[in-house]
Amino acid sequence: MNEKLIIIGTGPAGYTAAIYAARADLKPLVFTGEQIGGQLTTTTEIENFPGFPEGINGPELMFNMSQQAEKFGTRYVYETVLSVSREACSGLFTVTTTGGAYQAESVIIATGATARYLGLPGEKALIGHGLTACATCDGAFYRDVPVCVVGGGDSACEEASFLTRFASKVYLIHRRDALRASKAMQQRVLNDPKIEPVWNSTIAAYQTDESGEVCGITLKDTVTGEERPLEVKCVFMAIGHVPNTKFLGDLVELDAGGFIVTSPGGTDTRVPGLFAAGDVADPKYQQAISAAGMGCRAALDAEHYLLTNFG
Ligand code: NAP
Repeated sequence: MNEKLIIIGTGPAGYTAAIYAARADLKPLVFTGEQIGGQLTTTTEIENFPGFPEGINGPELMFNMSQQAEKFGTRYVYETVLSVSREACSGLFTVTTTGGAYQAESVIIATGATARYLGLPGEKALIGHGLTACATCDGAFYRDVPVCVVGGGDSACEEASFLTRFASKVYLIHRRDALRASKAMQQRVLNDPKIEPVWNSTIAAYQTDESGEVCGITLKDTVTGEERPLEVKCVFMAIGHVPNTKFLGDLVELDAGGFIVTSPGGTDTRVPGLFAAGDVADPKYQQAISAAGMGCRAALDAEHYLLTNFG
């Protein structure tokens, strides 16, 4: 039997799409992927999601969304999607996963984005050995030692601020001399005596100890090119994210940053019946609430498409 709607991804966009679609009786089938709940499960306090004046932690918010979607009839499949294709004549999609193949009349892509690293030689092997993109996950392992965060955006500032709970010192390494983060975040970071900004700098190399753990970095001045060592026990990368679209091949159109191109102000991709929502299709806002809003719109767009094309 064909599904009416398959939703791929369980961040705010995927869950919100599921809530709307389930309430419209589409009984959505949601593929959770490997990181159930998406990026917000790796954040701490969320202070700007409306409805929570005291803030709410990321995992709790995502758990609530998941429960809300399930309450209306959403079904979850704990498999990772490997490919999506559409048969032109029938208009049916085949979604192939680690567990099998599923057919659906419409699909919403809400797969979010994955942390970006610098691309230095040997970098990949260091992930989990003093190199990470998740302060919430790994911060507590680095008590009373110096660490650094790379980046100048909201994520970098949030991570740096969080890490002051554990580390003896947090260097905030930024390639320019001004932060990109919101003013409130900037103030919090720049007024914190435990955080030391390192302007106009990037990492040229990682140093490791005899057990293969990061024990320092070589800093490179982006203006003068000068290099100097800095002792840190962990590097927290916060230089943005790469949209998760690999499994789509060339099915959809991507912009220069790799984000899925949707119709202006809409969620339709160039493939009829295939919609995209959240960070995977939003190079500009990338907020939990804007992803949730786009998930809502994708579900409404899918509902309209299904009514028009499948009755
Ligand atoms: P972002 O805003 O894109 O910032 C990425 C940072 O990394 C920038 O400062 C950028 O430098 C730097 N960078 C990028 N590539 C680099 C490279 N190869 N080497 C060195 N530095 C590099 O990403 P984000 O901080 O993850 O935030 C993404 C979105 O989520 C934003 O819209 C942000 O507002 C939002 N967000 C909001 C909150 C919150 O409100 N609580 C928390 C986290 C994120 P340049 O500045 O020089 O480009």
